[in-house]
Amino acid sequence: MGQTLADLPLRDDLRGEEPYGAPQLDVPVVLNVNENPYPPSEEVVADIATAVAEAARTLNRYPEREALELRKDLAAYLGHDLTAAQVWAANGSNEVMLQILLAFGGPGRTALSFAPTYSMYPEYARDSCTTWVTGRRAEDFTLDVTHALEQIAAHQPSVVLLASPNNPTGTALPLDVVERICEAAPGIVVVDEAYGEFRRDGTPSALTLLPRYPRLVVSRTMSKAFAFAGGRLGYLAADAAIVDALRIVRLPYHLSAVTQAVARIALKHADALLARVHELRGRRDETVEWLRGQGHQVADSDANFVLFGTFPDRHTVWQGLLDRGVLIRETGPDGWLRVSIGTAQEMAAFRAALQEVLAQ
Ligand code: PMP
Repeated sequence: MGQTLADLPLRDDLRGEEPYGAPQLDVPVVLNVNENPYPPSEEVVADIATAVAEAARTLNRYPEREALELRKDLAAYLGHDLTAAQVWAANGSNEVMLQILLAFGGPGRTALSFAPTYSMYPEYARDSCTTWVTGRRAEDFTLDVTHALEQIAAHQPSVVLLASPNNPTGTALPLDVVERICEAAPGIVVVDEAYGEFRRDGTPSALTLLPRYPRLVVSRTMSKAFAFAGGRLGYLAADAAIVDALRIVRLPYHLSAVTQAVARIALKHADALLARVHELRGRRDETVEWLRGQGHQVADSDANFVLFGTFPDRHTVWQGLLDRGVLIRETGPDGWLRVSIGTAQEMAAFRAALQEVLAQ
């Protein structure tokens, strides 16, 4: 009775660790986890309900283990002549990337990324017992190729994780940087394009590089652009042999029949679901402009969020916003804050609250 974590035979490297996750608070304006603010339309909801009812009739059976129909639909969405054999899907891109580390990382191997970046990366490494090494990004959060190549030469990583656009900075990588890294890396290079659809014009997807680099993986998610964070569907495109490696480490039947069916409906409605992306990109650019106009430092953003600062005491600013019903994220380098792009009303509430807090 009264057992605590300390009493358990927990792995030594997990002692003192906290579960990952931003606070889930019930406040009027939630702009802290880079969600899409628009719920599915009634038409999409009705189609999902029908698909769930159909899937429900088969729930006595395990789902289709290879999720082939879904992978076909995802390949068609991505284009670039990709086939289902080159596409893999799991419960969010977090699961996809953990599977990559399970297959290609592990004891005695190293994964490399460049900070500041997505804070789950070190957790995939920890959970898969992979050594974790971080290089650094430049002052303006871009990647210095010389530094990146030095880190690769020094650490010979089995996996390089590159978020583009990067979280929490919003920075997209030029393709020539990805190419130089692919040419130098001894193992797998993952370009995490969770926010790929939000890129500004002129920053192309790494999908175009796949035919030339057989060890390149491009990871995507339906959580952001498809407004499908609750549906939990992440996916990747890579050489078919890489997909075969992931099939070894995935749990059997990892994608439920309901998930597969609902994700296929969302893909069928891609046009309607993605229509808002354009609007959100515009509002992102307006937010960057507005924050700069207020005298803040703002990182260029190709994502659906903006990193801004710097504040001598960012926690007080974060708390002041929360006290006014606006939840953003205290993340990134010291002094910076990150705000996700919401509806026009939500952004107006954010702007008003920030002005109030800073006027105090
Ligand atoms: N990659 C990046 C860079 C992210 O910011 C996130 C979500 N915050 C993910 C991957 C994971 O998203 P999901 O598991 O919902 O696909």
